[in-house]
Parts: sequence; structure tokens; C-alpha cells
Amino acid sequence: MHPTYSAEAEVYREKVQAFLAEKLPSNWQGLGALEGDDIMEFVTEWRKTLYEANYLAPGWPTEYGGAGLSATEQVILAEEFARAGVPTGGPNDVFGIQMLGNTLLMWGSEEQKQHYLPRILSGEDTWCQGYSEPNAGSDLGSLGLKADLDGDEWILNGQKIWTSAGHLADHIFTLARTDSEAPKHKGISFLLVPMDQPGIEVRPIKMISGESEFNEIFYTDARCPKDQVVGGVNNGWAVAMSLLGFERGESAATGPIRYESELDRLIEMARERGRADDPVIRQKLAWCYSKVQIMEYLGQRTLTKFLAGHHPGPDGAISKLYWSEYHHVVTELSLDIMGADAMVQEGRPPSSAFQTDDPGAANSSASWVGSFLNARAGTIYAGSSQIQRNIIGEMILGLPKEPRPQ
Ligand SMILES: Cc1cc2nc3c(=O)[nH]c(=O)nc-3n(C[C@H](O)[C@H](O)[C@H](O)COP(=O)(O)OP(=O)(O)OC[C@H]3O[C@@H](n4cnc5c(N)ncnc54)[C@H](O)[C@@H]3O)c2cc1C
Repeated sequence: MHPTYSAEAEVYREKVQAFLAEKLPSNWQGLGALEGDDIMEFVTEWRKTLYEANYLAPGWPTEYGGAGLSATEQVILAEEFARAGVPTGGPNDVFGIQMLGNTLLMWGSEEQKQHYLPRILSGEDTWCQGYSEPNAGSDLGSLGLKADLDGDEWILNGQKIWTSAGHLADHIFTLARTDSEAPKHKGISFLLVPMDQPGIEVRPIKMISGESEFNEIFYTDARCPKDQVVGGVNNGWAVAMSLLGFERGESAATGPIRYESELDRLIEMARERGRADDPVIRQKLAWCYSKVQIMEYLGQRTLTKFLAGHHPGPDGAISKLYWSEYHHVVTELSLDIMGADAMVQEGRPPSSAFQTDDPGAANSSASWVGSFLNARAGTIYAGSSQIQRNIIGEMILGLPKEPRPQ
């Protein structure tokens, strides 16, 4: 199950390590070691460096601006970046590159690929994901945002919600109902909508952490050109499901590295605070250690399959369920270790609202309490734990489908 790397692959690893050594400051400890505005400044500059070095979309074909790397090289690149504690792009690249870009390569017309892919890489277009609505989250097929054809344009009316980084984006890939008469999954289209227009209003939502990372998006006679449909009119459900595969399957290589580094930091904090000899804390730390080890094996299994040419599918649900539920427990343990200090937050909050704080982060109460709060969202976004269990049961284990309301 352990992927073995050829001598050639190890040469590529050395090349990536040399690139990191050349481009990162000599005292680099990981993004988490930076504070305040330095974090965004570094990410912006680092994104430019990756763009110039052609490392932003390692798996895309070179004709669309990618690096055309083999699966093995992509995995090595992701591993080395995670070990160095550097991001693989900017805050909207998970939507633009990983989700939309990969989906366009699969479903987009030649014009759409030629137009959008280079602009995503250059940063000229920044994207967010318009799937969820107030009445359509897990049951995404019930979505109600309407798109009606008027001459050469779609006219959109309705609302999306929980749109991460929507305030930083100028385009939104949107699921809209284009045929109200058709059965619910058959009347949906996947549209590419510019946000810089009077018909689109972005309203930030305040999170439990105090940050505003996601938004509501209101469409009032918003417009997009008729040809900005991906994969055909009323075929959006199939396109949307391909994209979710890219959303859920991505962290097999990097997740275990980040969770291991986070747990090392927690053990360090238990020592610093004189809690490492407490038998209850030791028991819980040992439990976390075993889970991180299992996470690593799960990651290795996904990677081995990926290297053999298998694309992420329903099996991505296993890793998603595993890391998100683990993260509830490990971050609760951090609060147990800090005790009353957890009530007074000192230091900077996590530099990322998703998964762990970045490698290099100080063992501050603000970092751990922020991670604890962010972990609550981990079992909801990208499909809740209950939905992951349904996917595992129905699509992997072949159990009978759950009864659905008509
Ligand atoms: C931090 C964060 C970022 C997000 N970013 C985005 C984004 O960028 N773009 C976007 O489109 N969306 C985004 N979302 C939305 C996310 O995809 C939805 O929250 C998620 O799909 C759940 O939908 P819901 O919130 O409507 O909950 P509901 O679907 O209403 O679920 C409520 C509860 O019922 C359970 N449940 C629902 N159906 C079933 C079932 N069939 N069987 C068993 N239990 C069930 C759920 O597990 C959950 O516990 C984000 C969410 C969060 C928290």
C-alpha cells in the first residue's frame, strides 16, 4: 500500500526541495509563524512566485498553462509544500484551480477552456462556489435559484448562501434551475457568472470565530451570456457531481502531514503546561496519535490508487469523514489542556478557517480556540458527516439506499 517512488521521482523531489530552499526566506518556519498582515502579504507574493514557476496547476496540460506533471510528480510537489508549511496558491484557488479548472478540463467547451483557464492561473479572474441555498444544502437537488433565457442572456433571480471567499471573488460558478418542469435533478445547469454587476449583492456572514469568511449572494435580474453553461443546458447535475469529487478528494497527501504537525504541537503544549504526565491527557493524546496514523494509511491508500490512474470518487468520503470528526476531538483536547486559559484568547487566530492552523503556529490560546471553532464547520462543509456516511453506505458498501421523500 505504501507508494514507492522511483529514483527518477526522488530526483524530482530534490528539485522541488531546491526550489523551496531558493524561494523561501532562510529562517522560514511555516506560514503559521507569520502574524497579522504579513500572512496575506506572503500569500500574495508566494502565489506570484508559483505562477512564474508554473506550479499553480501542476496537473493541467501545458496547452492551458498547467505544468503537465505526472501523478507521481504532483503528489511529491504537494507533499513537499505541506512539509514546508507553504500554501499551494491564494485563498480563491481552491475554487478556481482545484474545483472549476479541473471541471472545465473535463466538461468545458474548447472556448471556455481557452478563455478561463489562463485567466484563473494569472489571477485575472477569481472564483467562488455558488451551490448551497437556504433550502438546499445536503439536498442540493432542491435548489431554487432561477435562470431564464432572455435572448442571448440568462437572467438569474434567487439566493445562494455560505459562499466561502465570495467577498474576494469576481466570478461565481453557479447551479441554477433552468427547467422548472423537469424532475429536480434534470432541470439544473452549471453557469459561469460574473459578479461585478448590479444584479449581484454579496453580504458577509459573521462566523462563531468572529471572522466573516463566507457570504450570502443575492441575484436580482443578474445576467450571464447564454453560452456560459458548462456541460450543456439542464445537464448541470452531472457537472456539479464531478466538481464535488475534486472538492472532497484532494487532501489525501497533505492532510496527514498537517495533522501530524498539529498533534506534535499539541504534545509540545501539554509538556509546556505540565499536563503531559496527566494519565487522562496521555490517554487522549495516544488516541489522537493512533487516529493520525490511521489517517496516514488512509491517505496512502488513496494515493496508491491515484498513482494507478484512479480519479477521486465516492471513496473521498472516507477521508473527509475521518479527518473532520478527528478534528473535533483533537481541538477539544487542546481546550482541556489549556483549562481556564482557553477562556482568554492570546496571540493571533488561525491563519486559515479550514482544517488545522498553518505549520509554524505558536501554541497560543487564540490559535487553538480558533481551530476548535473552525473544526465545528469541518463536519458540515463539503458534505456533512451524515451525508458522507450515506455515500459510504450506498456507493461504497452497496447498502440499500435510504428512503427519500417523494
Ligand atoms: C465553513 C463553510 C463553508 C462553506 N462554503 C460553501 C461554499 O463555498 N459554497 C457553497 O455552495 N456551500 C458552502 N457551504 C455550505 C455547505 O455545503 C452546506 O452547509 C452543507 O452542504 C450542509 O447543508 P445545510 O447547511 O443546508 O444543512 P442541511 O442540509 O439542512 O442539514 C442539516 C442537518 O441534517 C442532516 N441531514 C441532512 N440530510 C440528511 C440525510 N439525508 N440523512 C441524514 N442526515 C441528513 C445534516 O447532516 C445536518 O446535520 C459551506 C459551509 C460551511 C460550514
